[in-house]
Amino acid sequence: LVSREHRRQRSIIRVAGVPIGPDTLTVIAGPCAVETPEQTLAAAQMARAAGASLLRGGAFKPRSSPYAFQGLGETGLKILAEVREETGLPIVTEVIDQRDVDLVSKYADMLQVGTRNMQNFPLLQAVGAAGKPVMLKRGMSSTIEEWLMAAEYIAQRGNLDIVLCERGIRTFEKATRNTLDISAVPVAQRLSHLPVIVDPSHSGGRRDLVLPLSRAAIAVGADGIIVDVHPHPESALCDGPQALIDSDLRELASIAQHLSPLV
Ligand code: PEP
Repeated sequence: LVSREHRRQRSIIRVAGVPIGPDTLTVIAGPCAVETPEQTLAAAQMARAAGASLLRGGAFKPRSSPYAFQGLGETGLKILAEVREETGLPIVTEVIDQRDVDLVSKYADMLQVGTRNMQNFPLLQAVGAAGKPVMLKRGMSSTIEEWLMAAEYIAQRGNLDIVLCERGIRTFEKATRNTLDISAVPVAQRLSHLPVIVDPSHSGGRRDLVLPLSRAAIAVGADGIIVDVHPHPESALCDGPQALIDSDLRELASIAQHLSPLV
């Protein structure tokens, strides 16, 4: 269902009216995790300044350590909904448990399935049935074929509003958290009609790499990027070292504008 054999033309997915797909470059930005109403609003304003048309933010956080901040749950979803009200930015947020799909769908404009859950098949089927667009991140140890098969699980439930997100894979290299597989963008776009975006924040895990990797993603033809921003990364409860700060935003906006396929 997600292959080019099924649909020859590349798809455009709309998230609360915001297009993701060919001939446009969609910027999604926001905090890694929702922490407080003030932090989320400040991050949303930063997202706007960077030219974002969608707000990201995790209320349910899939952390490697059970002792790390796990997210605010429904309280976080309510904060996101308030910030959407205030800024007009539709919300992309992660769901990590199939039992929470209805709850998260009540608030989200787009459901995110993270790298650790890419092969959580009951979750994929549940988001496929939820009636919301889905962002499917590539499993950090998954092949492109496995990623597309995961998308197929969602599509099989009648939902073809899927955006693929390359977010880096595990390699022997230790200088970066994961290795951004830039070639996955054109490969997945050739095999599938779905839009493909890139997460330069979670792949590199380092602020100084986010802008160079964004440039690379756009140059290779990604349909969008999703980046972390934070008003005070030094005190962030999740992934502060990769969050862009105020002084990075103008450059991100200019990269997105100048490299956008529309220009
Ligand atoms: C995220 O985007 O908040 C996230 C946890 O990303 P990933 O699943 O790619 O690690």
